[in-house]
Amino acid sequence: MLHFYNTAGRKKEKFIPIKKGFVKMYTCGPTIYDHAHIGNLSTYLFMDILRRYLKFSKYKVLDVMNFTDVDDKTIKFSKQKGVPLKKYTKKFGKSILNDFRKLNINKPKIICKATKHIQEMINLIEILLKKGYAYQASDKSVYFNISKFRNYGKFAKVKRKKLLNGASGRILSDEYNKENVSDFVLWKTWDKDDGNVFWNSPFGKGRPGWHIECSAMSMKYLGPSFDIHTGAVDLIFPHHQNEIAQSEAATGKKFVKYWLHRGFLQVNKNKMSKSLGNLYVLDEILKKVDDPMAFRYLVLTSHYRKSLNFTFSSLKSSKRALDRIREFTERVLSQQNKSKNNKKNLIEIKKETKKARNNFIKAMDDDLNTSKAIAGIFNFVNKINKLIDKNMVDKGGIKLIYLFIKEIDQVWGFLIPKKQKASKTKHKDKIKELIKKRNKLRQLKNWEKADKIKTKLIKMGVELKDTSQKTIWKIK
Ligand SMILES: [Zn+2]
Repeated sequence: MLHFYNTAGRKKEKFIPIKKGFVKMYTCGPTIYDHAHIGNLSTYLFMDILRRYLKFSKYKVLDVMNFTDVDDKTIKFSKQKGVPLKKYTKKFGKSILNDFRKLNINKPKIICKATKHIQEMINLIEILLKKGYAYQASDKSVYFNISKFRNYGKFAKVKRKKLLNGASGRILSDEYNKENVSDFVLWKTWDKDDGNVFWNSPFGKGRPGWHIECSAMSMKYLGPSFDIHTGAVDLIFPHHQNEIAQSEAATGKKFVKYWLHRGFLQVNKNKMSKSLGNLYVLDEILKKVDDPMAFRYLVLTSHYRKSLNFTFSSLKSSKRALDRIREFTERVLSQQNKSKNNKKNLIEIKKETKKARNNFIKAMDDDLNTSKAIAGIFNFVNKINKLIDKNMVDKGGIKLIYLFIKEIDQVWGFLIPKKQKASKTKHKDKIKELIKKRNKLRQLKNWEKADKIKTKLIKMGVELKDTSQKTIWKIK
C-alpha cells in the first residue's frame, strides 16, 4: 500500500486519492527568467519519479505544472536585456523543456503559463474581495488579509501570534522575508518599473502576484480539491501557505490532500548561490560527465525529502554505477540466443525476479524510498550475474529478466538507454560512411577534400589512424 509523507500532517499517510484509481497533481514549476539550475531540476526529477510510480501502480494521472512568465524577476531581467517579456521568457521555457528531454523527465500533461491565465486570476481575486478576505489598499494594490483566514500559518507552522500582535506588514514584491508573516499581494498595481507589462482589471491596471497564479491555474485544471501538490521545500512558506489561504478562502473546500516536498540540493555542502559560483545548470555539469542519466541516477540515489549533496565526484561515481547496470542489461541481452531451456533454472529465475519486484514495490510504496529500491537493483544484478556465470540462465530466463528490467525502467528511466543506443548506431553509421568516402578520395589523391572530411570527423569526436592497409578509428 502506497504511503507518502504529507507535509500537511508532518507524517507518513496512506495514499487514498479523492477519486479511486485517479490522481490529480500539481507541481510548482520554474520562473522562466534564466536556465534552471540543478537544484530546480532535482525537484522536477522528483515530480517525474512520483508520477511514473503512480502510473506503475496503475493510477491514471492528470498532472499540471506552471511556468511563471511574469513576476519581479522576469520583468527585471527582460528589461536589463532590452528584450520584450514574452520573447525573453520563451527562450527559458524552451530551455527547461530541453533539460526535461535530456533527463528523461516526462513532460507534464498540462503546462500553463501565468500570462495566459490572467482572467482566471482576476476572477479569483474578485471572489476574495467579495468574501472579505482581500482588500484594496490606498496604493491600489489588492492584498490578502491573513488575519481573516483562521488557519493561516497552520500548514507552514509559522507563529500566528506574530500576526495577531499586529506585526504583519504588507508585502508587495514576489521576494519574501521568510520570517515575516504578512499580508501578501494578489494584484500589484502598475508602477514605472513594470514598463509596458500590465493588464487591465476591475482593480486598475497592474499584474497578478506570484501566489495567486498557482491557485488560479491549479484549480482551473484540477478543480477546487485535488490529490497531490509538489514543490521544493523552500516553497512551504510563504508560497504554499498562501496558496492554501487563497484557495480555501475562495472555495470553502480543502485545497490539497497530500503535500510532497523535495529537500534542498547543496553543492559541496554549501547552499547554491551565484556569489559562491556553484549555481550549476545542466549543460555545465554535462561538460564534466557527459551523460544526463548520471545526474538522474544521482538524484534518485537519495531519498527525495533528504537534502542532497552534489559533488562532481558523486556524479562520476553515479556514472560508473549506471554503467554497471547497463553492462548487466547488455550481458543479459547477449545471452538471448541460448536455445536450451532447463525447467529448474527457470523456476530459480522466476523466484529471483518475483522477489526483486516485491522488494521494489515495498521500497517505493514507502514514501518513494528510491535509495532502497536502487540497492535492490544491485542485489538482483549480483544474483543474476552469478547465475549467468554458472550457466544457469536460459532463453526463458533471459526473457523474464528482461521483461522485469523493462517494467521497472518505466519508473527509473535510466536502465535501458534506448534513444542513446539508436542515435549511437546512427552516429557510427555516419562515421563509417565518411571514412569510406575519405579513403576513396585519398585513393584518387584528392587530399584537399579528404582532409576536409578528416576535420569533420575530428569535430565529431573521432580519432583516426591511417595504416597502409586501412583506417583505424575510435570515438574519443
Ligand atoms: Zn506555485
